[in-house]
Amino acid sequence: MTTRYDIRRADLADLLSDQPAYRVDQIWDGLYRNLAAPGAMTNLPKDLRLILEELLPAALHPVSESTSDRGSTVKSLWALADGRLIETVLMHYADRSTVCISSQAGCAMGCGFCATGQMGFERHLTVGEIVEQVVTAAQRARPRRLGNVVFMGMGEPLANFDNVWTAVQRLHDDVGIGARHITVSTVGLVPGIDRIAAAGLPVNLAVSLHAANDVKRDELVPINRRYPLGELAAACQRYVRATRRRLSIEWAMIDGVNDGPDDAAELAAFALPLRAHVNLIPLNPTEGWPTAPSPRPTIDAFRDELGHRGVNVTIRHNRGTDIDAACGQLRSRFSRAATPNAAIDAAGSQLHARFPPIALSAPARRLPH
Ligand code: SAH
Ligand code: SF4
Repeated sequence: MTTRYDIRRADLADLLSDQPAYRVDQIWDGLYRNLAAPGAMTNLPKDLRLILEELLPAALHPVSESTSDRGSTVKSLWALADGRLIETVLMHYADRSTVCISSQAGCAMGCGFCATGQMGFERHLTVGEIVEQVVTAAQRARPRRLGNVVFMGMGEPLANFDNVWTAVQRLHDDVGIGARHITVSTVGLVPGIDRIAAAGLPVNLAVSLHAANDVKRDELVPINRRYPLGELAAACQRYVRATRRRLSIEWAMIDGVNDGPDDAAELAAFALPLRAHVNLIPLNPTEGWPTAPSPRPTIDAFRDELGHRGVNVTIRHNRGTDIDAACGQLRSRFSRAATPNAAIDAAGSQLHARFPPIALSAPARRLPH
């Protein structure tokens, strides 16, 4: 099924071949500039609007929404057409907003501390499923501007490279979000990092490091066995040279695991040659992994140790912890029910009112003039 943000412009033109030529521009602008659903495109004849709603359905069906930090963090759980569940987090700041989006349902990378990793892999998201997360967030953010898009929700974006990159290009070319306002976060898939470096659209790259010696990282981040730190550092160097962007390194602070002075020394040795910026994030505890976040004084000492060694470092406040807004966590709460549909049922009757029946395929129809 082609959803409204999956369809390519050329295919839209084919679909509208019996319409006046300007319709393609009208609808493309409606979708990407005005962020409007076809049914709300009042510059189109009503019959056409109705048919487009049917032929080009939405990809995302709301299941639940929760807010925290006095309304400034909004977490949405969406069902896809096949019942898979994904999540998006929208964070509001004074005059702009940032959206954290998913690139896959589940994730195959198996990082033990991560709620998404604990679920395993379900499937890649399509281009439309990725783009629509941003579009709904931009609508929702109004009157604030959607300033930044970060691929830090569910999934490993570079494992779904083709769809993620087509979505990035749409966000850049059609929605008008600048490359410096888009951040791809990766667990360290070297071929994907090289593809970004070669792509000519210099998005920001965040590497989720969490350990800077191979023995420890093999444990924490199993994909390290395939792309060990030496190879990862070399790929990061190539990215920095090609894009002239500052790299960021994400480091979840895990009590007694990666928060000692030796860890700081290893991290500094990795980060300094890359001139990377390090973000320290207190671990969000998950049910499937019995460890705790580092205590605040330990995090402060770790930051100071990095600072003394000349590393650029900040401690990142974890938004929305009280609504499970960390990677994968709202979704995992729902998934305690056995199947996606059961999970949806578990959300109660109010949900059913908001959850439209899912159109699996639209009948072939001719478009009215
Ligand atoms: N797969 C990509 C992007 C999604 S995860 C990646 O790993 O980079 C987004 C970020 O959340 C990553 O930095 C990841 O390491 C971090 N993360 C996952 N689980 C976490 C947890 N329980 N506490 C803190 N950060 C977590
Ligand atoms: Fe996947 Fe990223 Fe979670 Fe690792 S941290 S399991 S790569 S989503």
